[in-house]
Amino acid sequence: MIADMHCDTLSELRNRRKNGSAEGLQKNSLCLDLDRMREQSYTLQNFAVFVDLAGTEDPFADALEQTELFWEEIRKNEETVRAVVSYAEMERSRSEGKISAMLTLEEGGMCQGDIRKLRALYERGARMMTLCWNYENELAYPAFYESAQPLGTGAGPQGLKQKGIEFLEAMESIGMIPDVSHLSDEGVRDVLAVTRKPFAASHSNARAVWNHERNLPDDLLCAMGERGCVIGLNYYPLFLNGGAAGESACASIARHAVHIAEKAGIESVGLGSDFDGFESESDIAGVSDIGSLVWALHRAGFSGREVDLICEGNVRKLYREILG
Ligand SMILES: [Zn+2]
Repeated sequence: MIADMHCDTLSELRNRRKNGSAEGLQKNSLCLDLDRMREQSYTLQNFAVFVDLAGTEDPFADALEQTELFWEEIRKNEETVRAVVSYAEMERSRSEGKISAMLTLEEGGMCQGDIRKLRALYERGARMMTLCWNYENELAYPAFYESAQPLGTGAGPQGLKQKGIEFLEAMESIGMIPDVSHLSDEGVRDVLAVTRKPFAASHSNARAVWNHERNLPDDLLCAMGERGCVIGLNYYPLFLNGGAAGESACASIARHAVHIAEKAGIESVGLGSDFDGFESESDIAGVSDIGSLVWALHRAGFSGREVDLICEGNVRKLYREILG
């Protein structure tokens, strides 16, 4: 059973639609579709609405367009998938053999600093949000900067902005999970200070294993582990080992898993593929390759119970705690 906290398939599908493609969620040429997920016993997939602030005139309208596409695809595939906003719904889908699809948000700037927009996206089913992507926005500063910075210079104290703190408080009170992937180290420290409940890093690896800004340093892994957070392993070779030849991506993901388990605890390791968020021809290029990752986790020394926790159990537990 597989539960994955992050993919960019939804925004990729939307982009292809704009270019005239008729591809949908059931079957497509992307990294991930429902037919292949079913074959691999997926029980849950988060689908991120991703907005590129440098590439859109109206970030909120862009987000709404993607949520519409999400619901349209869910309605078309009701036999195999259910959009879920609560743990009870996930459990119902799981027992009926349906895949749960959870709507998430990547780039807090899509709310344009307006908490009413956050609530509107919550009403449409969103239950997790990254405070930022690779740009400074109204809420926070990123760990890694794209060269274009539409909203700021990138120069600043790097912790959360006042608006970011207000958004976090709103998210905790309505039951939306803060996602610290892409956030600066100082920002993650602020999230730890401002919140009380567990949160997620939906698609982040360990910086001690591969030194990239997008990966989490040991002190944050330890603190997030103590809080009961879950960190989703990202399959992008650039974050795994810089794309080094000679090591398979799955073996590298397993090394990150071992390190995160050592620092944060086995109960804080999850999956966050980032499928359709990067180009790669690695040994885990799509959902059909998930068996290779499970095998690599066993080979790295995890027990059957631990592999189950990484692949599904820890994410379900986080959702039970936060979404009820
Ligand atoms: Zn991302």
